Amino acid sequence: MPEGKIMKALSGFYYVKDKDRVIRCRGRGLFRKKKITPLVGDYVEYQAENDGEGYLLDIDERKNELTRPPIANVDQAVLVFSAIEPDFSTSLLDRFLILVESHHIDPLICISKMDLLTDEQTKKIEQLAKQYEKIGYTVLRSSAIWDDGMATLTPHLEEKITVFAGQSGVGKSSILNALRPDLELRTDQISSSLGRGKHTTRHVELLSIGSGLVADTPGFSALEFSELELDELPSCFPEMVHYGENCKFRGCLHMNEPKCGVKLAVESEDIPAYRYKHYQQFYDEIKSRKPRY
Ligand code: GDP
Ligand code: ZN
Repeated sequence: MPEGKIMKALSGFYYVKDKDRVIRCRGRGLFRKKKITPLVGDYVEYQAENDGEGYLLDIDERKNELTRPPIANVDQAVLVFSAIEPDFSTSLLDRFLILVESHHIDPLICISKMDLLTDEQTKKIEQLAKQYEKIGYTVLRSSAIWDDGMATLTPHLEEKITVFAGQSGVGKSSILNALRPDLELRTDQISSSLGRGKHTTRHVELLSIGSGLVADTPGFSALEFSELELDELPSCFPEMVHYGENCKFRGCLHMNEPKCGVKLAVESEDIPAYRYKHYQQFYDEIKSRKPRY
């Protein structure tokens, strides 16, 4: 059976891309019994009929799935954070990072609007960027008004399914427009799809950029840790995984346990105090969450 990837889901049709062809498919087949709804990003088996039409037969196992927007097999999330307007917030960045890490998606940090900074402000942002690079994250600096503003981003999109994420007004649509000028997405189009309630039936599409695929709708608009368990939280902080090897107790949650390698690293400033503070805040937030049943 031929296989392809669902690029778009619209009005009961799934647009399956197989090499250079797009086949418009209806759902049918095994997955119906399994009660699985096909998602954009799914790798599927299909049966082609005439005129570029066909039907889906089966869906390959997913490596992950997002509910908003509904999309499967996401490899990477580009976290767009403006250096200014709105101000760069480490607390929001850490929240996004943890959400992304908990879905087993690789984060890439992109600091936008670098053109708006004074030299003094650039220095401060650089300091923060270096702290995230020290943790192991890739941090790009971008500007929609520099000619080569997106040149650093495109190589990171190759061969991957990427979603953009970040608060409203940081420049996500501007980046997408720069990547795919032929589409002329309105700069508020992406932002408005984040609006809650109104656009519940919007569709999602994967856009080809080089050999990569990018979702046209931003992800992680719900910022609660509703699916994260307390004991999974430390693994979402790469530096805590590292320094946690020095903890006396296995499964140490780095809160009140004695001889905790993470707390020692905070004392010696190997882990910035704000990162640990955010860890404690997220810990309390998950702990006080009402059980979901
Ligand atoms: P979104 O809500 O994240 O999609 O953000 P938009 O792409 O709509 O951008 C919000 C506003 O910031 C718009 O007025 C953009 O023109 C502006 N903007 C976006 N990126 C940049 C940038 O790199 N530099 C400057 N100076 N303005 C930008
Ligand atoms: Zn510990």
